[in-house]
Amino acid sequence: MNNMNEDITLLPYHCGSVECRICGLKFLPELEEDQELHQHEHLRFLRGGLPYELREFIKRAGWEAAHCEDGVQGDDARRAQEIAKRVVAYSYWTRDVSYGIPESEFEPFMAETFAFIDESIAEDEDHAHQNNDNNDNIILQKGAGIVECRICGLTFFPHLKEDTERHEHEHEHRRILCGGWPYDIREFIKRAGYEALRHKPEIEPESENRQHEIAKRAIIFARWARAVSKGIPENDLEAYMAAHFAAMDARESGDRYQIEKANQAMSRWRRYG
Ligand SMILES: [Zn+2]
Ligand SMILES: [Zn+2]
Repeated sequence: MNNMNEDITLLPYHCGSVECRICGLKFLPELEEDQELHQHEHLRFLRGGLPYELREFIKRAGWEAAHCEDGVQGDDARRAQEIAKRVVAYSYWTRDVSYGIPESEFEPFMAETFAFIDESIAEDEDHAHQNNDNNDNIILQKGAGIVECRICGLTFFPHLKEDTERHEHEHEHRRILCGGWPYDIREFIKRAGYEALRHKPEIEPESENRQHEIAKRAIIFARWARAVSKGIPENDLEAYMAAHFAAMDARESGDRYQIEKANQAMSRWRRYG
């Protein structure tokens, strides 16, 4: 199975079927219906519908970081918790995108999700938190009249609602809907991915391999989200992913020739990095 022309984004699965490392679909590559189904999965991925294991990885990492048993102390810890909550909210959104939620539901969906997350964390931390105004769930007061949007992270003066500012904000949300996730969220996912790669669980090697594979997908997904926010064309999805998987696999194997080759292939994507 060590054909050099093999598509690195496809892993062998059972009985001739393969698993796509980008969208998670398991399919028979020679079946025409399956090829169509697969293309459809990539469109869904481009719209932000992430495969189950990837979004579960993101959700779990987010919840773990958001929960703090001794309560959250200090501004930095509070900020870290807030980012973790956002990560959880995003993971829920990606699930609903997979189920076909319309884009127009993005803001109300996120408001409800933040309310739910805030409440379940508050319960755990043992202080009541009542908030019925959806807008308050999305908008954080930063002091001095400045507010921050919890969806996109943009800070602005709400009373200076200039048209340009409103457009900029709408543009940020549009970018997220196209897969260009905000910096804080991407960095959180990338870090969680690298931590999982370093982690050596005391379980059977097969399950460890699987966890490492999902961690790699998370890291590469976060990089893709950055490339999207820098304007990479959607058509480049497969080639971009292939180059990044090759680079990560090569680095893990430690094979110098593979690393060299992978690095050359990566040069095409540096401008989005
Ligand atoms: Zn795929
Ligand atoms: Zn926003």
